[in-house]
Amino acid sequence: MSFLHIQNLHKSYGPTRIFTDINIEIGQGQFITLLGPSGCGKSTLLRCIAGLTAVDGGQILLGGEDLVPMPPQKRGIGMVFQSYALFPNMTVQQNVAFGLRMQKVPAAEASKRVAEALELVELSDYAGRYPQQLSGGQCQRVALARSLVTRPRLLLLDEPLSALDARIRKHLREQIRAIQRELGLTTIFVTHDQEEALVLSDRIVLMNGGQIVQSGDAETLYTAP
Ligand code: ADP
Ligand code: ADP
Repeated sequence: MSFLHIQNLHKSYGPTRIFTDINIEIGQGQFITLLGPSGCGKSTLLRCIAGLTAVDGGQILLGGEDLVPMPPQKRGIGMVFQSYALFPNMTVQQNVAFGLRMQKVPAAEASKRVAEALELVELSDYAGRYPQQLSGGQCQRVALARSLVTRPRLLLLDEPLSALDARIRKHLREQIRAIQRELGLTTIFVTHDQEEALVLSDRIVLMNGGQIVQSGDAETLYTAP
């Protein structure tokens, strides 16, 4: 049985139909890439799953439970965006701890979990720094730690590497994949970069014009007659 099961999902912005009848199934611990051209609706789909925008119809079952009526903070979802959106006046430690403070996790437990998350992204030595003292790649690792620290059931990555230069991009994508495997975290990685999709994923879901046009492993998709 699939862990995430999206059924007949519909979304319009006013009169503009973004997608109709999206269906996706993902097994627990799978890493899938949602690949498609700019503007095809990938971000909107992630925002619907995270509850950052309302859907017009359909179901998003996570572990058998429908997320659609649930407020975003109850969904158990971690999300990383292309722009890291860190708080500039907070240290790395405070940025990562922020979500736990909102969840009222006790201080001792919170600092333990922040330390663990920073270790995962190899930034333990940077806890006291401020975002403007970090490189783009390091900022994105802080953003990743900030989403992991809440122990999400599902991780959504919206073009997390697009703002970084090529060398860092390669390194960080390997690091993301290693962390995902270590935690066994079910993950959707959005990209418009075919190479990224091919290298990274258990399965690729191809989206175009608001529809899922194909889905399968890299070999199946690119050797099909
Ligand atoms: P992608 O992530 O694949 O680049 P998006 O989901 O960002 O695509 O956008 C899909 C379409 O929806 C685009 O045409 C975009 O302009 C439109 N769109 C995105 N957000 C909104 C919004 N809040 N209101 C109206 N249209 C939007
Ligand atoms: P929703 O109504 O589903 O909650 P919003 O209207 O809050 O979504 O849109 C999210 C963001 O996208 C807003 O900042 C909005 O200004 C922006 N946006 C609006 N129209 C577009 C568009 N055509 N393409 C991309 N982004 C858009």
